[in-house]
Amino acid sequence: MTLVSPPKSSTGEQKGWERVPRVVCPGSFDPVTNGHLDIIARAAGVYDEVVVAVLINVTKQSLFTVDERVEMLQQVTGQYANVTIDRFHGLLVDFCAANGISAVVKGLRAVSDFEYEMQMAQMNYRMAKVETMFMTANPDYSFLSSSLVKEIARYGGDVSGLVPDLVLGRLRERLAEK
Ligand code: ADP
Repeated sequence: MTLVSPPKSSTGEQKGWERVPRVVCPGSFDPVTNGHLDIIARAAGVYDEVVVAVLINVTKQSLFTVDERVEMLQQVTGQYANVTIDRFHGLLVDFCAANGISAVVKGLRAVSDFEYEMQMAQMNYRMAKVETMFMTANPDYSFLSSSLVKEIARYGGDVSGLVPDLVLGRLRERLAEK
C-alpha cells in the first residue's frame, strides 16, 4: 500500500504568521479603475488590513505621477478603514518583508493574465514564501485595464462608469493639457 505523503509546505503558524494577514494589492494604478477598486474593496472585506502599493517604475512612461496616483487612490478608498496606500520600488517581496505582509492579492481578468501572474506568484513564493491569492475579476470589469481607459479617453471616448468620477475629471484635465 502506498502512503500519500503530507504536503511539504509549512503552515502559516509554522512560519510565525498571524492568522489573519495583512495583504498587499500591488500595481501601477495609472490611473485606478473600477476594476482595481472592485478587487480592493473585496480584499478589504476578507482581510484585516489591505495595503495598496503603487509601483514606482522609472522606466515606464506614465500619465500620472506616483504622488498623483497615490492621492487618487487615497480619495477613492477613503471609505474603507482597513485600506492604506503606499508605494514601492524594486522587489515586491522586499516590500512585503519590510511591512509584515504575508500575501499578495491579485485580480485575474482572463486567461491572458494567468500565465504571467502564475509565474510571478511562483517566483514570489520561491523567493520569500509570500503567498498570492487570486480573485476573479468582476465580469462587469474583466475587459478593463488602465491602458485601455487611457487610450479610449485620449481619443475622446466615454470612460464614465469604468473609473471613479474623481479619476474621470483628472483624466479630462490631464489629456486637455497634452
Ligand atoms: P493595468 O494597467 O492592467 O490595469 P495594474 O498594474 O495597474 O494593471 O493592475 C494591478 C493589478 O490589478 C493587476 O495585476 C490585476 O491583478 C488587477 N486588475 C487590474 N485591472 C483589473 C480589473 N479590471 N479587474 C480585476 N483586477 C484588475
